[in-house]
Amino acid sequence: MARALVVTGGSRGIGAACARVAAQAGWSVCLSYRSAGAAAEAVVADIQRAGGQAKAVASDVASERDVVELFDLAEEAFGPVAGLINNAGILAPATRLRDIGLDRWQATMATNLTGTFLCAREAVRRMAVSAGGTGGAIVNVSSMAAVLGAPGEFIDYAASKGAVDALTIGLAKEVAADGIRVNGVRPGLIDTDIHASGGDPLRAERLAPSVPMQRTGSADEVANAIMWLLSAEASYCTGITINISGGR
Ligand code: NAP
Repeated sequence: MARALVVTGGSRGIGAACARVAAQAGWSVCLSYRSAGAAAEAVVADIQRAGGQAKAVASDVASERDVVELFDLAEEAFGPVAGLINNAGILAPATRLRDIGLDRWQATMATNLTGTFLCAREAVRRMAVSAGGTGGAIVNVSSMAAVLGAPGEFIDYAASKGAVDALTIGLAKEVAADGIRVNGVRPGLIDTDIHASGGDPLRAERLAPSVPMQRTGSADEVANAIMWLLSAEASYCTGITINISGGR
């Protein structure tokens, strides 16, 4: 029987790749998006054409009400949620910390950190064996920025992802005996729209020569690692975050 998977930010980039690869692997995928409804529906249509099951839900990860509703709708459509990919994230234009306004700081934290917390909490409440659930797996999408710090560019973003790494470690230990594994990935320079929304569409391409592998990564390369962490192949892994960064 297909298991239900929630993928936040599944309309584009890494989230869309995860949704497609997960559906191929037999998951029923409930993907969320913030505003790109047409793109999200196109991912759903692709999955359904290929014989998979998917549903798109407009849901802001920073809204507690939206997150509860996302999980309710996922369960209504596909049964108990057994997997969560905490992927939704934003990046603001590059600037030094001294020029980062409080509004920008709070917006970055709201999506990247609070969103990850709210979705993880909702998943744990439903998956925990002690609460009548059947266990599950969570993968948090961090960034190499968490360990590189992103000086002169996005310290707000890097700090939000560093906090996600701490959340992964703590939550993994807290719920390990409750049948839930919690892991993460740190993508490096991945070829998606996030660089354009950060004001520099050519950023990944421009920095590619600085990557030991001399190239950007693809959303599928990140999705494949995430799928491994979600799968039974990773049954003895919890509390780890894997770099998917070409050696960066
Ligand atoms: P992307 O192409 O810009 O896609 C971002 C996705 O997140 C979209 O589906 C977007 O929805 C969704 N989203 C943004 N804010 C949201 C909110 N408040 N609520 C719900 N959904 C929201 O980004 P990406 O490159 O695939 O990045 C995915 C994740 O990987 C992020 O966490 C990012 O920080 C991380 N990452 C990316 C890179 C990279 O180089 N690309 C590197 C390291 C880490 P809409 O389409 O509706 O806007």
